[in-house]
Amino acid sequence: IIVVLLLTCTPESNTNDLLPSSNSYSSSAPSSLMHLPFDGHLSFDNLHFAAQDFGGVFSSLPLAVLYPRSVSDISLAVSHVFQLGPSSDLKVAARGHGHSLQGQAQSPGGLVISMESLQKPKMRVFTGKSPFVEVPGGELWINILHETLKYGLAPKSWTDYLHLTVGGTLSNAGISGQAFRHGPQINNVYQLEVVTGKGEVLTCSEKQNSDLFHGVLGGLGQFGIITSARISLEPAAKKVKWIRVLYHDFSSFSKDQEQLISLEDAFDYVEGFVIVNRTGLLNNWRSSFNPKDPVQASRFSSDGKTLYCLELAKYFDPEVDESVDKEIERLLGKLNYISSTLFMSQVSLLEFLDRVHVSELKLRESGLWEVPHPWLNLLVPKSEIDDFAREVFSNILTGNSNGPILIYPVNKSKWNNQTSLVTPREDLFYLVAFLSSAMPFSTEKDGLEQILARNQKIMELCKVKLHGTKQYLPHYSKQEDWEAHYGSQWEVFMRRKLSYDPLAILAPGQRIFGNKI
Ligand code: FAD
Repeated sequence: IIVVLLLTCTPESNTNDLLPSSNSYSSSAPSSLMHLPFDGHLSFDNLHFAAQDFGGVFSSLPLAVLYPRSVSDISLAVSHVFQLGPSSDLKVAARGHGHSLQGQAQSPGGLVISMESLQKPKMRVFTGKSPFVEVPGGELWINILHETLKYGLAPKSWTDYLHLTVGGTLSNAGISGQAFRHGPQINNVYQLEVVTGKGEVLTCSEKQNSDLFHGVLGGLGQFGIITSARISLEPAAKKVKWIRVLYHDFSSFSKDQEQLISLEDAFDYVEGFVIVNRTGLLNNWRSSFNPKDPVQASRFSSDGKTLYCLELAKYFDPEVDESVDKEIERLLGKLNYISSTLFMSQVSLLEFLDRVHVSELKLRESGLWEVPHPWLNLLVPKSEIDDFAREVFSNILTGNSNGPILIYPVNKSKWNNQTSLVTPREDLFYLVAFLSSAMPFSTEKDGLEQILARNQKIMELCKVKLHGTKQYLPHYSKQEDWEAHYGSQWEVFMRRKLSYDPLAILAPGQRIFGNKI
């Protein structure tokens, strides 16, 4: 086979403009799509929502949106497009909650499948020795939490924000403060049902169609559309001690973080963030936290300096774990934070896991949620993190950071390395997330162009000096960059693409493949 790789030629609308101006492919659209016998429905109207995402930077109108009511709707649509053959331009993107950052769930002039319409299989919890929940691919994690809590159970691994779909996060990884112990969400899945790029419906797991299973997990939607998933569960914590402590210097902060993730039974969640000249709602939006003592809360200001905040959670049952406070005191006693900066509160598991939603509501009220989000997420190996912190926090990020910056380590030994997710080679690496918001029309430091330029500087630093760093939620516009991102995994990625989506129909918004592979 002669493999020709072409990058998607779709021009990127890298502007503040959320609404696309034209639908360039519609004239060549196969009208036959309209006559397919769907259980759900196909719409050629009200397409603008499918041209937008949380990133608010990229925007492409589709030709149509399918609202499926059954898995066979999805299979019918994809097989139809597959049968149109290699000469057709029509592509298909599954759209979860549209919280991508660079148009990854868009399908320029193609078909978007609105996965949240798929309500089958009905969400069902299986109790027993290895409990799990079976959910449709478009289910939101917040709904899964509500449902499983009814059985005293909950998924083990999360994202910081729960209004995302299962298919959307499993296509990436799903990383949060529990990942050091349980691995990311993609490592906590027992089984998937998938519609491949040929329209076949396949069940896959570690034992059945395992190559497809591993490919789809972290596979950026390239090998199949996840129509259902079985997610492993654990007994849900009754209560959570939610703790924050501050550090003056990065090395004590990261040393303590690393120590904590090496302990089996210390905390259930370990994250952290950087406080760079923190002012205003936008920079505090991940901090919806109510320390009981308001005097302590008022000290929570960086006062022009860079501070590092370690964030921890300890799950417990007040009826059984009577000595939880003592245990926390003992664990905190081993850390080197600034002693006057201990903030601790007690919340329910739901309040803890859904914490970012509280900030979302505040930002929505102030009109600051639906602004462009030029985010940059990186996985930085331990050996490079000190250089990274020095260069980025002291030299590149001067002044306000325009949003939270998360930084926390994870243990690769807990991660399954057969999935499509690309991570640094080392056993320990950090997730570093620059969660910036841009002010529309601003030409100052908080403007979109300025933040994108700053992100570019950070990427340049990684390219030139920090070779082991990888992008998470990756976005590239050149084929050589995708190849470099996958490195030695590129061959496997290509082989899987040829097996499961040989006409490169799926997830065109990732911009990895063009019309042919
Ligand atoms: P979409 O944006 O709709 O889709 C994302 C990609 O997945 C697209 O390529 C799409 O085609 C594909 N896709 C969607 N559904 C399916 C399916 N059923 N089958 C196959 N492919 C599919 N990530 C983390 O890991 N940790 C975090 O803590 C975290 N926090 C976040 C907080 C916020 C506020 C936001 C906006 C994002 C956050 N993310 C985080 C990133 C998030 O996990 C990804 O952007 C995720 O893809 C969003 O899910 P979605 O349902 O909106 O997916």
